[in-house]
Amino acid sequence: MVNVDGTDQAQVVVDQDICMAAGYCYGRYPGLFAAGDLGIAELTVDGFVAGGGPVELTSADLLSAARQASQACPSGAIRIVESGTR
Ligand code: SF4
Repeated sequence: MVNVDGTDQAQVVVDQDICMAAGYCYGRYPGLFAAGDLGIAELTVDGFVAGGGPVELTSADLLSAARQASQACPSGAIRIVESGTR
């Protein structure tokens, strides 16, 4: 399936059990991530906390942010789930 803006449908999840609270994701992409208890990352949707997700990536900007955060996360806790890979 494809989103309205032409991006492939994708979701992001955070494995809060392996997040090491390094803070890169919410420091760099505060519109998608936030700091939870003890600095463990939480996903956010329109300012609301969504825990570890999954959260739908509804724009190319969100998908790009999630991909970059996933690549930079030192614990490998951020995963992108694209349609066809679930
Ligand atoms: S970048 Fe990774 S380890 Fe750091 S807070 Fe985010 S999810 Fe956790």
